Amino acid sequence: MQWGTTVTGVVTHSAGPAVALTLDACGGPNPGRGGNGVDTELIDLLINERYPATLFLNQKWIRNNRPVFDRLAANQDLFTLGNHGTRHAPLSVSGKMAYTEHGTASVGEVYDEVMGNQQFMTELLGHAPRFFRTGTAWYDEVAVEIVRTLGLLPIGFDINADFGATASAKVVAANAQKAKPGSILIGHFNRPEGSTFEGLKVALPAMRAKGVRFARIEDVSIA
Ligand SMILES: [Zn+2]
Repeated sequence: MQWGTTVTGVVTHSAGPAVALTLDACGGPNPGRGGNGVDTELIDLLINERYPATLFLNQKWIRNNRPVFDRLAANQDLFTLGNHGTRHAPLSVSGKMAYTEHGTASVGEVYDEVMGNQQFMTELLGHAPRFFRTGTAWYDEVAVEIVRTLGLLPIGFDINADFGATASAKVVAANAQKAKPGSILIGHFNRPEGSTFEGLKVALPAMRAKGVRFARIEDVSIA
């Protein structure tokens, strides 16, 4: 019955007080629909300036970037690593589409999309990811219930910082600074050709200077 990014059961904000930065690595050969790139400048900014973040990793992206994955995994005091799906599909039980992406088309395909990468990441990390975001962040409410039944919390957002890494630096910086205590901010770190880093390198220090605290999704209070 529901189809979108704010479906019942998707966590779109926390009780705060911190802001949760969530950055996705979408994966796939086509940069216009994901891409296996690495925004090294953005990762360096987070690590060097100690900005906690939750990073949602797609299986295709991990397979193409194992040394980067290993670097992220070595910084789990700063980063929560979440599951961003196996083929980066919107989660539908009836084959709905989000943007130009074909969603999964059955309960079985939902299971495979979640658990393919879940098992892959669990083997690499030695522990199971606890948080999930679909490719495109779209779901139907049956898929949301399946994700929860599989022991994962579906994480959405209330602040879209970079519009899929298509926004200008100025727009990214302005969007990010709309975050309030408890906001979950979404951006991307697989599109270095975009301006996500250029916007966040302005916004994050400005927010911190105003007293905003940042935290991993596991360190904020989720209703
Ligand atoms: Zn994605």
